[in-house]
Amino acid sequence: MFLEVIGSDGGKNSESCRLVTMKLGDRVLIDAGSASSLRTSELDRIELVLMTHAHMDHILELGFVIDSTAGSRDAPIRVGGSPACLEAIRAHYMNDVVWPDFSRIRTSHGPAVVYEDLADLELLELPGGASALPVPVNHGAGGRGFLFSSGSGTVVYTGDTGPTFTLWEEAAKRSDIKAVIAEVSFPDSRTDTAIASDHLTPGLLARELSKFDGLGLPVYAFHLKPWFRQEIDRDLSREFGETAVLLMRGDRLVF
Ligand SMILES: [Zn+2]
Ligand SMILES: [Zn+2]
Repeated sequence: MFLEVIGSDGGKNSESCRLVTMKLGDRVLIDAGSASSLRTSELDRIELVLMTHAHMDHILELGFVIDSTAGSRDAPIRVGGSPACLEAIRAHYMNDVVWPDFSRIRTSHGPAVVYEDLADLELLELPGGASALPVPVNHGAGGRGFLFSSGSGTVVYTGDTGPTFTLWEEAAKRSDIKAVIAEVSFPDSRTDTAIASDHLTPGLLARELSKFDGLGLPVYAFHLKPWFRQEIDRDLSREFGETAVLLMRGDRLVF
């Protein structure tokens, strides 16, 4: 299985920023902050969009994806997330005010979108062969992280989170963890801001990984505030040496 980075930014202050969106194989998206930057032929193949939570940097282009592909699909696109996340999307975004309620719009194959509540800690088989274990994390808007497993390994995907527990407890149960894909929104000099907004810094992430003996695993950092990129990069290098890298658009991790 592969995870391809479509967007890895946790904020936007220029045209070159791409908000968080990952492709897991050819048929699954994780979040949709910059999903409409995918080619139409790629979007048409997406069957399921897994949402980590309902903050705007993650849901922004979900509406454009549904709108632009509804007529070319032969089945509804599935949008999966925690009940709180999906409720927020339906009440405040796809509500027939801000954007159409595509779950009520009929196409030749039924509704344009179906929403699927994800049960915590229940393994979900994904289109394309991998599986996802949704795990509650310490973040608002129905925040969930995931353990994604292929036949040959598991990666931890934190989504947005501050210091948390269950995700690392679940990781500790597995002997096949290949890497941690972790949000690192702020530099260590902004630890107070990170804590207040339920995010991580390189220093906080190191404490998180020590909760499950994960120090030494490859770390792929994403969701940086672009204006802190250089400072975060320096802090990461100091904390993790060569085991941590920043994820960039176009990067592809195979597991
Ligand atoms: Zn975010
Ligand atoms: Zn968030």
